[in-house]
Amino acid sequence: MTGFVHDSPAARVVFGVGAHRRVAAELERLGVARALLVHGGHETAYADQVAADLGARLAGRFRDVVMHVPVATARAAVASCAEVRADGVVALGGGSAIGTAKAVALETGLPVLAVPTTYAGSEMTSIWGLTDGARKTTGRDPRVLPRTVVYDPELTLSLPVDVSAASGMNALAHLMEALYSPAVSPLTALAAEEGVRALAGGLPGVVADPRDLGARTDTLRGAWLAGWALGMTTMGVHHKICHVLGGGWGLPHAATHAAVLPQVAAHNADAAPAAMTRLVRGLTAAGRDADTAAGGLWELGRELGAPASLSELGFPAEAVGEAARLVVEGRPPNPREVTVDGVRDILERALAGDRPG
Ligand code: NAD
Repeated sequence: MTGFVHDSPAARVVFGVGAHRRVAAELERLGVARALLVHGGHETAYADQVAADLGARLAGRFRDVVMHVPVATARAAVASCAEVRADGVVALGGGSAIGTAKAVALETGLPVLAVPTTYAGSEMTSIWGLTDGARKTTGRDPRVLPRTVVYDPELTLSLPVDVSAASGMNALAHLMEALYSPAVSPLTALAAEEGVRALAGGLPGVVADPRDLGARTDTLRGAWLAGWALGMTTMGVHHKICHVLGGGWGLPHAATHAAVLPQVAAHNADAAPAAMTRLVRGLTAAGRDADTAAGGLWELGRELGAPASLSELGFPAEAVGEAARLVVEGRPPNPREVTVDGVRDILERALAGDRPG
């Protein structure tokens, strides 16, 4: 890395056990007097607590969150905002709830305060996504970047082990692709390495005991750094593969990341040696054996019980050629040239799910 541009969009981050009790004060700081609270069904208990704290500052609730934000959901959320005359949005939940709030911000320009409860990282980015039928459109717009992000590890205690493991591997994928992105800066690289250390250190503890608040805290701190690194850079062939498989074959978002990640790490290893060194350093700093980044990520995935193969997720072997063509068409920036043969090779290895190298 010789030259770089470092342009950090400002989201205020409030992190700590019990931080969700500060949402009302943070809204006041933003000048929001009437908030629409957006959340999914699994987050209802936490949302109830926040709603009680908001008191008169709560204008209404929107609960019909759907993954990948169908345009109909986005329209309904915007209408709900207008109906209750909200002047801001609180999104509590995973990438789906936060994505719904972002869709409102894209349309209305209202400020978003995010309270993430998974490790997906959307809260730290200005990336929005909307789905129309099977077609997902994404873009970047500064209006959708949450103004304030409140991270409370307590709100992740109920995240099921399998969702935690897959979501954590999703966060590690952000870190890997940020590390070899053409947009990486020295600061982003440092933060990404620390993110790998925090996630690789925290996730095994979460899987051993999902109510281990220390492990949840480390993991959420890693997810914050991963989300930030995602927002600061561009994603490569790994993310393009996951989006193609999700959009075209309905594969689950985070689980697909878990199965594909080690195979892409092996595929890109020779083209991105500095990134792989940082990944290995992050993994070993967390006390893990990692001869290579790909091997270390694969072993972490097995220890976490995350999906190892695309075949167990239902991806059909005969779709490899079509998926590879779609990935190459998307022309993702990647350290190694993206070819149909190269992507076919990644997909075939990910179908089997064996240890790379
Ligand atoms: P999600 O938000 O759908 O959450 C996964 C499941 O976990 C849901 O059923 C949810 O209700 C449940 N859940 C969430 N928090 C919980 C908790 N604390 N306890 C119990 N259950 C809980 O999935 P996700 O992986 O967080 O996000 C995926 C979506 O986010 C995708 O649409 C993806 O494209 C998007 N995304 C966007 C960005 C971005 O920068 N725009 C970044 C990452 C992901």
